[in-house]
Amino acid sequence: MSEENQKPVKSRKSAGSLAKKPATPAAKRSTAKAAGAKPKAVARSRAAPRYTKAEIRAIFDRFHAADPEPKGELDHTNAFTLLVAVVLSAQATDAGVNKATKHLFQIADTPQKMLALGEDRVREEIRTIGLYKNKAKNVVALSQMLISEHGGEVPQDREALEALPGVGRKTANVVLNIAFGQPTIAVDTHLFRLGNRIGIAPGKTPLDVEKAMEKIVPPDRALHAHHWLILHGRYICKARKPECRRCVIYDLCKSPEKEKLEAVPEIAHQMAEKVAEEEKPGA
Ligand code: SF4
Repeated sequence: MSEENQKPVKSRKSAGSLAKKPATPAAKRSTAKAAGAKPKAVARSRAAPRYTKAEIRAIFDRFHAADPEPKGELDHTNAFTLLVAVVLSAQATDAGVNKATKHLFQIADTPQKMLALGEDRVREEIRTIGLYKNKAKNVVALSQMLISEHGGEVPQDREALEALPGVGRKTANVVLNIAFGQPTIAVDTHLFRLGNRIGIAPGKTPLDVEKAMEKIVPPDRALHAHHWLILHGRYICKARKPECRRCVIYDLCKSPEKEKLEAVPEIAHQMAEKVAEEEKPGA
């Protein structure tokens, strides 16, 4: 068990426990605490709301309770096809990339096969994706580099990954996390917005948000943190209008943009109960 995980069970419960009606005294305290935070967060205007360690813990425990093994949405069959898919996903939707790579990965799932296919053919395969000409060039060039410098394997370190054509920090983080199980935080548009909107990891740049996230995410939740946040931002805490009624962390969220509901959504109650169950000794 990690050091973070051994920390104050009491405070973990106080931040994240809710109960169905009739509420227990502990649940009432928890709800009152969350409710009490609301006006403060609004009154704090533009400053990022502050969260206690226990509240942050509760947020990630709720995400875990709702989706213990979150998965990325880019189809791939190995580390190489994952790398290519992430390179292709810049300024494109995952669904659009998956559509284009379905056939491409059937005929070229290794750097050698991709190189043999050649730039013109790769370009044809991915022409439905934005910036496809440049992306085809990068995919073939990175395949060449994987063969010449890494024995045809995808390297497991950031520096080597970022040296590949078309690969930036975010792409490297996704590959390190999904293919190699490293607890990296890949900051995409959703995660960047979420870090700032709810204020758990504010920052002016994606790197600021990444660093802030690394500091606050409990170590035992770090591997899946970026998936949870990306999916939460994509489907619930959406850019134009967050769907707070469907939010598992509603009572914990201190965003000034939070919709003022009359009651905490049932899904938040359910996940708080699930977390409380998991925290029971022997669970
Ligand atoms: S309560 Fe609303 S604003 Fe806060 S995280 Fe949930 S969806 Fe986003």
